[in-house]
Amino acid sequence: MKTDSQALRAVLALAALAFLAASAAGCDKIETLIRGHRCVLSDRDIHPDMAAEVAVEGGPSGRACCIRCAITYAQQTGKKVRVASVTDYRTRKPIAPDHAFYVTGSNVAPCVGPPMEATAGRRECCILGFDRCAPSTVAFASEQDAIRFQREHGGRIETFAELARSTGGRLVAAKK
Ligand SMILES: [Zn+2]
Ligand SMILES: [Zn+2]
Repeated sequence: MKTDSQALRAVLALAALAFLAASAAGCDKIETLIRGHRCVLSDRDIHPDMAAEVAVEGGPSGRACCIRCAITYAQQTGKKVRVASVTDYRTRKPIAPDHAFYVTGSNVAPCVGPPMEATAGRRECCILGFDRCAPSTVAFASEQDAIRFQREHGGRIETFAELARSTGGRLVAAKK
């Protein structure tokens, strides 16, 4: 009987060790999972249909809440921001930033507090101070999707080159 309980204790000790090793290895993954939901530039929540993959020269890199946040970052810091991908608003798939069509200034602005749509048409409610994610810039893989979205939600259609120009060329499409 004594050997049985000794063997059991040994098995339990091994299991505990294995568990500790596994959770230590899992820490990094959990960490990135948690941070993956926050913008590396603004610490805002990331909406899955707005995310951009960015890398600041000599600065943070990872997922940003939206391309507008990256534009503001480039304008404010004067640093170069490489954009590896943006998200197609319709399919939520990552797309090459310089192949996307952007709608800027529509009434859809997921990063900016409560949906602005709720206050559309009520001027007194729309007065908004500076916000790093405004005007919103929504990306699309297809020009048709961008046009359809613009008809419904307003704004203007822009290319990546136009967005880059507004940062004095600091926003660049990362080469794969
Ligand atoms: Zn952000
Ligand atoms: Zn944003």
